[in-house]
Amino acid sequence: MEYFLSEEQKTIKGLARRVAEERVLPVRAELDETEEFPWAIMKELADADMFRVFIPEEYEGLGGGCLELCLVVEELSRVCGAIAVCYAVNALGCFTLIDFGSEEQRRKYLPDVASGKRLTAFALTEPTAGSDAANIKTTAEKVDGGYVLNGTKQYITNGGEAEIYTVIALTDKNRGVRGASAIIVEKGAEGFSFGKKEKKMGIRATATRELIFRNCFVPEENLIGKAGLGFIMAMKLFDRSRPGIGAQALGIAQGALEAAVDYTRQRIQFGQPLISLPVVQDILGDMATQVEAARALVYAAARTVDSGAKNVTEVSAMAKVFASDVAMKVTTDAVQVCGGAGYMKDYPIEKMMRDAKITQIYEGSNQVLRNAIAIELRKRKARTE
Ligand SMILES: Cc1cc2nc3c(=O)[nH]c(=O)nc-3n(C[C@H](O)[C@H](O)[C@H](O)COP(=O)(O)OP(=O)(O)OC[C@H]3O[C@@H](n4cnc5c(N)ncnc54)[C@H](O)[C@@H]3O)c2cc1C
Repeated sequence: MEYFLSEEQKTIKGLARRVAEERVLPVRAELDETEEFPWAIMKELADADMFRVFIPEEYEGLGGGCLELCLVVEELSRVCGAIAVCYAVNALGCFTLIDFGSEEQRRKYLPDVASGKRLTAFALTEPTAGSDAANIKTTAEKVDGGYVLNGTKQYITNGGEAEIYTVIALTDKNRGVRGASAIIVEKGAEGFSFGKKEKKMGIRATATRELIFRNCFVPEENLIGKAGLGFIMAMKLFDRSRPGIGAQALGIAQGALEAAVDYTRQRIQFGQPLISLPVVQDILGDMATQVEAARALVYAAARTVDSGAKNVTEVSAMAKVFASDVAMKVTTDAVQVCGGAGYMKDYPIEKMMRDAKITQIYEGSNQVLRNAIAIELRKRKARTE
């Protein structure tokens, strides 16, 4: 299919594919096994200017948009869904800063993110606030010259490895979520520590940790935008970042499809390659069609975000929901057509199936996002009545 990518977009995609195939492929199984954070790969991605892709040009970036980010994430995920997340979450960690931060904050942090010198993370989820994200309890009490944070964030990607954290905390707990604000906390701040590193089903090379704040002071200049707008900023951030999860899912599904085609071409049963069997062809045909449909929706959603459209909640959620369901289905089918080999760790397909699962859960579970899509449908209908 032709997606009419610009020459620059093709170059970015090609570069990401090269890093994925030359650097990620040889180590993906080992990193999955050891659960080690892929610092060497982060360095390779930095050297290839991949972190610059989502940073505006004024701050030493390439000024790419959602589509450029999706192209990189898709290519990395095609080889390893975990490495892709370690990279992509940096965009999540600094989009709030890019959209709402002061000029001083942007100059202070973004060039270091662009060069890959410092990684970032985004912290909203808490033990009491998963799908019910508005139920956060972490507080940031206003004191002379800054804020004092207390509370625990849970399941934070790049936790412990990143140096710059965008944390959503209540600066006015009496106002509930309307009193939430976005605050930058740097690794090393007194009173800021990390809890246990989670052991996971998939994306095992990513670090998922608790962030613990105990009387952690941050200076006033670390507040992003206006106090009280933190939750709105977080929701806007997800509208912009969900196509990226769609791209992660899409890449994983593409990788599984290619692996399944390779295997079924060379596996001989009943005197012929498996791929000659009509039932296998049916499955592969469906897989390929679903992957292409996911790509079309993810790219369309990314382009809608980049167009500056006012409300992208619906299309962004659709791309994430559809592509992640496709990834789960396609990776499961890939294991099936490869039989016992697909189930074994000697082949990459079982890892792809494990990695695919998270795409249906994070940045809004697919159930919650289907609700969000339905709410948008209802609002649109109401507007026309
Ligand atoms: C590996 C990993 C990395 C993550 N990284 C980050 C990160 O970097 N930053 C961050 O802030 N968070 C992160 N998260 C948190 C993630 O966004 C949440 O896990 C997710 O939003 C779901 O919340 P929960 O796990 O508490 O599930 P719950 O909210 O407990 O939901 C459990 C189940 O109930 C369903 N459910 C809940 N409410 C509803 C409803 N109203 N309608 C229908 N179904 C419902 C859900 O769909 C789900 O199937 C990460 C999570 C994981 C697992």
